Amino acid sequence: MKKDTIALHYGYDKNKGEGTMAVPIYQTTAYSFKDSKQAADLFALKELGSIYTRLNNPTTEVFEKRFAKYENGIAAVATSSGMAAIFNAIANVAEAGDNIIISDKLYGGTVTLCTHTLKRFGIKTKIFKSDDANDLEQLIDNKTKCILFESLSNPQISIPDIESIVLIAKKYKIITICDNTVASVALFNPIKWGVDIVIHSTSKYTTGQGTALGGIIVERENLAELIKNNPRYYHFNEPDESYHGLIYTKLPYPPFTLRVRLSLIRDIGNTPSPFNSWLLIQGLETLSLRMEKHSTNALKIAKFLSSHPKIKKVSYPGLEDNFYNKRAKKYFKNGLCSGLFSFEAENFEEAKKIMDNTKIFSIVTNIGDSKSIITHPASTTHQQLSDKELKDAGISPSLIRLSVGLEDSDDLIEDLKQAIEK
Ligand SMILES: *Cc1c(COP(=O)(O)O)cnc(C)c1O
Repeated sequence: MKKDTIALHYGYDKNKGEGTMAVPIYQTTAYSFKDSKQAADLFALKELGSIYTRLNNPTTEVFEKRFAKYENGIAAVATSSGMAAIFNAIANVAEAGDNIIISDKLYGGTVTLCTHTLKRFGIKTKIFKSDDANDLEQLIDNKTKCILFESLSNPQISIPDIESIVLIAKKYKIITICDNTVASVALFNPIKWGVDIVIHSTSKYTTGQGTALGGIIVERENLAELIKNNPRYYHFNEPDESYHGLIYTKLPYPPFTLRVRLSLIRDIGNTPSPFNSWLLIQGLETLSLRMEKHSTNALKIAKFLSSHPKIKKVSYPGLEDNFYNKRAKKYFKNGLCSGLFSFEAENFEEAKKIMDNTKIFSIVTNIGDSKSIITHPASTTHQQLSDKELKDAGISPSLIRLSVGLEDSDDLIEDLKQAIEK
């Protein structure tokens, strides 16, 4: 099955149940067991099936299976938000005394999770320069549990040297986690390039209309081989006392996502609602078409802004003179670069003026909506970062981020033009 077909059909058998064309919403908390034996078998994992919606749900399961296949993975676990997916993925491998290595260009929420909240849990975060990854290898030690980066970073709009990162991680048998939210599953599949775990905030392009919060963790095939008997991941190889001594690598299931579900989601409960999973299934159906339009609209606008005398700098990998243009062509489908980009006005005051005068672009701290959005990271999404952290993350006070929607590009250009020239 090719990708565009997977997005519409995979993981749902319409000949079962009532034959509904749309995947039904199983809006239920729990499930009735046939008898006490079936209940016992389900809890003992002798049989896989629905037990309680905190752990699994048939609507969510269609979304997980479809997304995993679309992302070239073998299994997936959906979560209540993108942050929940990132937290679960890290907490699945790291504990107090361990460290993780993250890219210097990441979503602000991920930076605060790692450098503040996880620090309080005793997990240390080291930061590498993702443009060339030259400093990555020297940061690795025996306690390093994962390397986390974004395929298209929000809001710096950079593309890391993914091949080099993966090569180093493989040498030390460390799990790589790629946040693929901005590129989207339609334009890029990190697993094809050797990445182990892909996570998404599905609140963005996947849902597409800004209607459902969600996240997902996708595992590549055969990750078990890396984890099995790897001292770095001893907790997958030793009995889990919280699950009657179960050893994850001895089960015939993909161990990473299994452990997220059975251990973390069981205990933390950051599960999606069935209704949100259903909305996300609707989103997947049109994702690839939307990503094409988001990308072509963004390129037109980026070109317009680059030629405007009052704009200092435009960062969009789709532009030929952009540092990341070669990587965009190498990694992304047809070199399409999604709808997100940033530009710098002449100064903070000019940036504010543009923000306040656009009419079609809404001032919203979100991305990936079908409606165009304008944001000022320094005062909103990245406000909790210190001046030094902002500078290190490449975010200047005059930086404006656009999430280009699906409107007519002529209208969007006209809107920005009048706001800049006001
Ligand atoms: C929005 C976003 C997140 C967080 O996702 P939520 O669904 O808002 O929790 C993580 N990573 C990236 C790249 C994002 O854009």
